Amino acid sequence: MKEYSKPEKFDRDIVVIGAGAGGLVSSLIGATLNAKVSLIERHKMGGDCLNTGCVPSKALIRSAKWLQHTKRAQEFGFESADVKFDFADIMERAQRIIRTIEPADSVERYTELGVDCIIGEAKITSPYTVEVNGKSLTTRNIIIAAGARPFVPPIPRIDDMDYLTSDNVWELRKLPKRLVVLGGGPIGCELTQAFARLGSQVTQVEMMPEIMGREDPEVSEFITKRFESEGIDVLTEHTAKSFIIENGQKLIVCEHNGQEVKIAFDELLVAVGRAARVDNYGLDDLEITLTKRHTIEVNDFLQTNYPNIYAVGDVAGPYQFTHTAAHMAWYAAVNSLFGGFKKFRVDYSVIPWATYTDPEVARVGLNEQDAKEKGIAYEVTKYEIKDLDRAITDEEAQGFVKVLTVPGKDKILGVTIMGEHAGDLIAEYVLAMKQNIGLNKILGTIHIYPTLAEANKYAAGEWKKAHAPQWALKLLKRYFAWRRR
Ligand SMILES: Cc1cc2nc3c(=O)[nH]c(=O)nc-3n(C[C@H](O)[C@H](O)[C@H](O)COP(=O)(O)OP(=O)(O)OC[C@H]3O[C@@H](n4cnc5c(N)ncnc54)[C@H](O)[C@@H]3O)c2cc1C
Repeated sequence: MKEYSKPEKFDRDIVVIGAGAGGLVSSLIGATLNAKVSLIERHKMGGDCLNTGCVPSKALIRSAKWLQHTKRAQEFGFESADVKFDFADIMERAQRIIRTIEPADSVERYTELGVDCIIGEAKITSPYTVEVNGKSLTTRNIIIAAGARPFVPPIPRIDDMDYLTSDNVWELRKLPKRLVVLGGGPIGCELTQAFARLGSQVTQVEMMPEIMGREDPEVSEFITKRFESEGIDVLTEHTAKSFIIENGQKLIVCEHNGQEVKIAFDELLVAVGRAARVDNYGLDDLEITLTKRHTIEVNDFLQTNYPNIYAVGDVAGPYQFTHTAAHMAWYAAVNSLFGGFKKFRVDYSVIPWATYTDPEVARVGLNEQDAKEKGIAYEVTKYEIKDLDRAITDEEAQGFVKVLTVPGKDKILGVTIMGEHAGDLIAEYVLAMKQNIGLNKILGTIHIYPTLAEANKYAAGEWKKAHAPQWALKLLKRYFAWRRR
């Protein structure tokens, strides 16, 4: 590592690079604590989540789901419900939603909150200086929150396909007739289903044996079947080998069980993962250490190999979610300002997430797949949502709440929920795990009837039934029989 001389005094306490979730929250915490903070963003305030990620995708999913409901009209007692729409209006709606949320992440709001917002490209020139718009800012600490970008695999001729990614798919105003989605992870699955519901003929290509492979097999199986029932062609164990143009048609060439499979398409959406943004802003010159996965390496306090340079969010990982970026931001901001007195280790013990397919899939902590991989002993309790009154009334009676516990103990190791609003339902278990609340306490808590949230309580009830002391129940049986005499 090079030696840099420390300035005698500093203009700022923190310079934050990137105004996505990680950068916004870091700077907000700093400014709230009356530190002098500059936040530098080169593109759009709000980062990927607001502009090209969570927000437009959830808006699109909502429109697609609404349309899907009209296709299920008879299930709800209607003869039919024909809907006319222009795809361009659906995409414009997503932009309107972005504009509605935008003021919360704006320069105006953050300036009012005490953050010095600078629009420009930041470059770290030393551990104590950041250059932007031709000016050099001196700072005690730097927080890198530069995010990630869609990873595009180097498949021959992919560059000739004029492909879409999550960065530019939002600019589409004409519905693709035949769409190939490359990738079976959460982003690929969410967009596959949304485009198929809006009328594209979608082929999803995944090289692994299943889509949503991070979740337990019954989740992947259910979602695959659901996709197929909605007309999606799910091609697993298909490895994209090249792209070609034949008779003016774009084709993806895959290898499947030693055979060549060609699929024609009009548009290609690449969704095979996200690569941390680590280039062209000074990391190389400073020799900031990267991990094998090309993210910035940080320690438990979120420090890089320079103790006053921190990294949060997608650029550091290991998780790539808005809420984990915000979670990390607290540690980086507080550690950078008060690390001289006390430093806090980032706590990844209870990390939840959701995939917004229909049905949704939400998780916190371990699933069976993880537990087996890590050799952690567990017990499984499952409640099937098909039996839940509210899910039945809503025609959404499918899915489950699956809880992993320490064998013989009321300690939750992890929960997977698949079903309507699973992303909201999991919150109760996130709180339970974070606060060390067991299933007995969830069972002893009144849940409103009829709600989807009752599923959480019924899952706790299943656990209780399986753990009721058999000797006591036998004794009670004899006692009541004696009383009836
Ligand atoms: C389609 C899609 C759907 C998603 N859905 C969800 C979801 O439902 N829930 C969820 O939790 N997560 C979701 N995510 C992930 C989520 O968007 C990211 O995890 C989150 O945006 C990460 O925040 P961040 O602050 O680390 O980075 P970003 O939001 O990427 O922000 C980084 C910012 O840094 C700026 N920047 C980079 N380099 C510089 C520089 N040198 N100078 C100045 N500025 C710079 C960039 O312009 C960018 O604005 C989704 C992502 C995608 C693509």
